[in-house]
Amino acid sequence: MSGRSLRSRSYLWPIFIGMWITARHLFFNLFHMRCLPTIQYPEQRRNYSPRFRGLHILTVKQNGDIRCTACMLCATACPAACIHITADEHPDPNVEKYPREFNIDMLRCVFCGMCEEACPVDAIRMGPGYELAGFDRNDFIYTKDDLVKNGNNTLSHVTHH
Ligand code: SF4
Ligand code: SF4
Repeated sequence: MSGRSLRSRSYLWPIFIGMWITARHLFFNLFHMRCLPTIQYPEQRRNYSPRFRGLHILTVKQNGDIRCTACMLCATACPAACIHITADEHPDPNVEKYPREFNIDMLRCVFCGMCEEACPVDAIRMGPGYELAGFDRNDFIYTKDDLVKNGNNTLSHVTHH
C-alpha cells in the first residue's frame, strides 16, 4: 500500500466535492432562473429565423382547391422516398389531375427542401412549423388534409393564386 492518505484513498472526499459543486449550481440556478439559457417550452417558444424551413405545407388556390396537380416531380426528387401520391382525374375538365392521396412520411424526411424546389406550381412548401411529435408511427404520416391544415395554421402569408 502506498503512502497515500486515507482521505485520498477513500474516494469519499472527491464525491463530497462533486456533490457540493452540483448543489451550489442547483441553488444558484434556482434563485437566478432568468440567467438560465433554458426555454420554458411549451409556454415559451424560441423565435426562429424567417428563413427557417420546417414542416411541409400544401398550398391552396383562392377557391380553396389544392394547387397540386399530382405531377409527381416532388416524389421523384425526394431522396428519402417519403412522398406518396395517388393521382386521380379531376372532376373539372380544365384541371388534368389532382392528388387523391398525398402522404409524407415525416420520420423518413430529411428536410432537404428538394420537393419544394422541384414543384413547378408552388404547391408544396417548407413552412415555419417545427413541432414534430407523436405517440405512434402513424402520427408521423402527414396526409393531404394535415398538410393543407399546416398551411392554414402556420402560414398566413402563403400566396394564393
Ligand atoms: S424535404 Fe427532402 S426528404 Fe423531405 S419530403 Fe421534401 S424532398 Fe423528401
Ligand atoms: S406538390 Fe408540386 S411537384 Fe409535387 S406532385 Fe404536386 S404539383 Fe407536382
